Amino acid sequence: MQNQMTNTIEMYQAALIAFEQAVGKDFVATDAVALQRASTATFPTIPKVCAIVKPASRAELQQCMSIAGQFCLPVYLISSGKNWGYGSRVPVKDDSILIDLSRLNRILDFSEELAWVTIEPGVTQRQLLDYLKARNSKLWIDATGSSPDASLIGNSMERGFGHTTYGDHAAQLCGLEVLLPNGDVIETGMARFASALASPVYRWGLGPSLDGLFTQSNLGIVTRATLWLMPAPEYFQAMFFRCDDANNMPAIIDALRSLRMDGTLRSAIHIANDYKAIAGIRQYPWRETGGLTPLTPDRMAKFRKEMKFGAWNGSAGLYGSRAQVAEARRRVRKALTGKVEKITFLDDRVFALATRHKRLFGAISGWDISKALDLASPVYGLMKGIPTDRPLAAAYWRKRTPPPATMDPDRDGCGLLWYAPVAPLEGGHARILAEMASRIVLRHRLEPMLSFTLISERALICVISLSWDREVPEDEERAGAAHEELQRELTKAGYPPYRTGIASMETGNTGGAYARMLQAIRRHTDPDGLFAAGRYDYLPR
Ligand SMILES: Cc1cc2nc3c(=O)[nH]c(=O)nc-3n(C[C@H](O)[C@H](O)[C@H](O)COP(=O)(O)OP(=O)(O)OC[C@H]3O[C@@H](n4cnc5c(N)ncnc54)[C@H](O)[C@@H]3O)c2cc1C
Repeated sequence: MQNQMTNTIEMYQAALIAFEQAVGKDFVATDAVALQRASTATFPTIPKVCAIVKPASRAELQQCMSIAGQFCLPVYLISSGKNWGYGSRVPVKDDSILIDLSRLNRILDFSEELAWVTIEPGVTQRQLLDYLKARNSKLWIDATGSSPDASLIGNSMERGFGHTTYGDHAAQLCGLEVLLPNGDVIETGMARFASALASPVYRWGLGPSLDGLFTQSNLGIVTRATLWLMPAPEYFQAMFFRCDDANNMPAIIDALRSLRMDGTLRSAIHIANDYKAIAGIRQYPWRETGGLTPLTPDRMAKFRKEMKFGAWNGSAGLYGSRAQVAEARRRVRKALTGKVEKITFLDDRVFALATRHKRLFGAISGWDISKALDLASPVYGLMKGIPTDRPLAAAYWRKRTPPPATMDPDRDGCGLLWYAPVAPLEGGHARILAEMASRIVLRHRLEPMLSFTLISERALICVISLSWDREVPEDEERAGAAHEELQRELTKAGYPPYRTGIASMETGNTGGAYARMLQAIRRHTDPDGLFAAGRYDYLPR
């Protein structure tokens, strides 16, 4: 037994030396603080990271994978590791080497005319935006509400989404370069033909299309991808609406579906309930509630009247020529009249004026512009692809101290878990989801923060956010129980999630022919099963 342990430690030491030789001493971290941080998410987790390795190139990454294979070490991978609410940097399997690709951050190629950029996995939202600005580009990125320093490829690997017409991120990827754990490098789409000129613009290639195999999977590491960018429209207006009567929400969803179907609205439209809206502008009202939790629906209704937002609050971008936007505005008004209390349209000129002259604007329009701008300004930017860290403050909702200047929910003990079911784009489904989620979350004494995203013409994603203070153990237990119940009940009702966290990666593990096929592919790509074991895994348990 003693001998076996000594051997294991010696092997581990030898592996570390090999990693250091591959990437440089400064880029292998084994100190307790770094490992503890990398093993901490926004909810309780068990698996630990045993070393963090940061390669700077695909060649170094290949060496790292080969070292892991040689020493039989499990590997987990991040692009920037900001997967907050789903597991952050924590691996699914214990004692994993964490490979951090943030140093693979080159922007490799770019076409203004055809609106694409080829990037490495470490490239962040901020970095790409700065790159485009420096070139006076007329192209926009699509940003998420996560940190400006979150990666573009990591988010797309989870099939995350943003706010513009390019909001469905995995749908904007083309021509992936993928390192398989077995050492092979493959290119998807047209790129496998060395002479093909259309690799960055034609996704399907010739023959079976493999791109989908590498999102939400553990079949390979994407080391390069082309991302399609959105040509800036001639004119842009943001639309915000407020609905005070929650019973109108399903009719609003149906009206918006028609507008998406006929092309009037083309972006990922977001509709948030009052709980999600309040968390976007302030922390829990500890003083006003005398410290009692949760914020009951009655109290919530009072706050939303005071703060002038609705039971449901929507936002969408209108993009096109001035004439197209004017026509879209007319159709939106017609479709939503009688269902919402207020629709506001803002363009850059009005937005800048309102921000500069808040008081005057408020007096003329009779609208409390200050509070409205607080809620609207980050969303306004996101509709133009400008990332912001403002939404991140919502992770501090139940904390007793304000969010620090540099926010890090893992480090700061913010409790955050998402459950994000997907449903057909029909008001009736939105009503069922809202009712079930609110009932379950309130029963566990947390606030039911919900939003609906019309991700396409046919589907909506409901993001349910559970937010608590990790320093309150009872709430941590309640959040875990609420998450489990949401997953169980909503899946049973027909609404499984579009993406999942590390604690529930077996959700899709229904066995059968689907699992058998994926197992066969994995036996080829990763015969030793060392890469991201357990991540969206379909191996029998
Ligand atoms: C306040 C707040 C708002 C948020 N808003 C949004 C939002 O609007 N939309 C949204 O989608 N998410 C959102 N998130 C969730 C999350 O923060 C983002 O999805 C974020 O982009 C994920 O982190 P990342 O980009 O660093 O990915 P990473 O953590 O680097 O990657 C995520 C996972 O993908 C896999 N992966 C990463 N890189 C590769 C690769 N190169 N090859 C193969 N697999 C890989 C890994 O398994 C990794 O665990 C939000 C979170 C918070 C707290």
